[in-house]
Amino acid sequence: MKFALTTLGCKVNQYESQRIREALVARGHTEQAFSRPGADCYIINTCTVTHRSDAEGRKLIRAALRFEGRVVVTGCQVEVYPDDIRAVSDRIEIVRQEMMAPHFDVLLPPGITSFGGHSRAFVQVQSGCNNFCTFCIVAHARGNPWSRPWQEVVAEIDALERSGYKEVVLCGINIGLYEGGIAALLRQILARTAIPRVRISSIEPWTVGDEFVELLSQEPRVCKHLHLPLQSGSDEILQKMGRPYTAEYFSDLVYRLKSADNGIAIGSDVMVGFPGEEQHHFEESYSLLERLDITYLHVFPYSPRPKTKAAVMPRQVDAATKRQRAQVLRDLSRAKREAFIRSQMGRSEDIVVTRTDPGSFGGITSNYLAVRVQGSACLNDLVRVCLVDYDGHAVEGMPCG
Ligand code: SF4
Repeated sequence: MKFALTTLGCKVNQYESQRIREALVARGHTEQAFSRPGADCYIINTCTVTHRSDAEGRKLIRAALRFEGRVVVTGCQVEVYPDDIRAVSDRIEIVRQEMMAPHFDVLLPPGITSFGGHSRAFVQVQSGCNNFCTFCIVAHARGNPWSRPWQEVVAEIDALERSGYKEVVLCGINIGLYEGGIAALLRQILARTAIPRVRISSIEPWTVGDEFVELLSQEPRVCKHLHLPLQSGSDEILQKMGRPYTAEYFSDLVYRLKSADNGIAIGSDVMVGFPGEEQHHFEESYSLLERLDITYLHVFPYSPRPKTKAAVMPRQVDAATKRQRAQVLRDLSRAKREAFIRSQMGRSEDIVVTRTDPGSFGGITSNYLAVRVQGSACLNDLVRVCLVDYDGHAVEGMPCG
């Protein structure tokens, strides 16, 4: 069979797609581009985190329906809004993620062996969440928390390292719920594999403990980069969101991380226009973020998700206000990112090469700066560079010993 596969959404979705891709290929099936006609089967792995993701999913489904092959839809949208997908066409096969392997009569491999041409591989270690933040549909889509045994994770990372990967990014839905603790998992990975770099990109602030902060700051193989979703800087809004921490807790956590190692890059998600967010709540968020030593922000206008508590809360915020607040925070993010980048000039950093062009190459530092270098290197190399210039768009590096 010839199949085409496209994936929306988070790293966990990307990982799950890679696993089913490897299962299909191992069975002798071949992959082709999703945009081309001629496949026997088009697979769409959906995301439902916002109404835009839903719309994007339906767009891809309609694109696949123009061709003659089977159309299989899986992923988070299938879990929570299957009727919306059914309404698009009765040609669609709706398949829950856990049923994908039996649906295609294949066996899922115990782990992935590559990551679709990328220089850094995502490795899922956890799924599910039991916090049920009032805006979030993901917890409904992903069910109760579960963790992969550390032995399985270690074996997968070991195999990826042996096949040339220099960096893995651990992912999960709420990775801080990893059974036994994420710090303990990291220690196993560091002790039992030779992978040069492990990145934890996103972790809920209330799940970060002292042992983890210590590891992040002291272990050079753990990337100096964390994504800590704040969502709001107002305690009143955080409480309505069902987020179990305060602005002060978050602020202390950022302070602890930056005191442990000032070079750690800290990103954060912020939601604007949650129901009941008045101008003064937004200003609380702004002044907290302005004060904090945060590197960049991902700003999301609140998107009501049917079946969540927040969708039926009173005092929904109008679209124009959400847009305006999002713009203000994106401007703040730009200024913060620039200030962080400028503070890194003159440092020597290893980059994992993620891109090669004639006469130059590019890569990512441990603290997540994208660096462009004149010269040549191979994809996946680890190259020591000095950060010499920043022109407002890209960081320029020079190879150094
Ligand atoms: S912690 Fe909250 S936002 Fe994150 S997955 Fe769980 S319910 Fe959703």
